[in-house]
Amino acid sequence: MSLPPVGLRAHRDRGMLEITWPDDPPVELSFFDLRCACPCAVCIDEITGAALLRPETVPKDVAPIELGYSGHYALKVTWSDGHGSGLYTWDRLRALSERSRRV
Ligand SMILES: [Zn+2]
Repeated sequence: MSLPPVGLRAHRDRGMLEITWPDDPPVELSFFDLRCACPCAVCIDEITGAALLRPETVPKDVAPIELGYSGHYALKVTWSDGHGSGLYTWDRLRALSERSRRV
């Protein structure tokens, strides 16, 4: 399991979430990409893993209203489009971070 990030910072002017992992330089994920990667049962079919969320329905300027920890294992985000059931586990956030680093 991934260790929790040591730093989380929302850059609202640029629409980016900066995440600092214990053993890596900070990485930035866009609010939009993060919203589209929501892992909840509404956005992803729990059984097939198929994406149910259509990115074109997500506002381009979507932003987190609230960021909070869920226990020791995940980030809970309430989004400006009213969606708030997604828990981003450290493993998932880490995977998204690695992916954005390679782009
Ligand atoms: Zn969701």
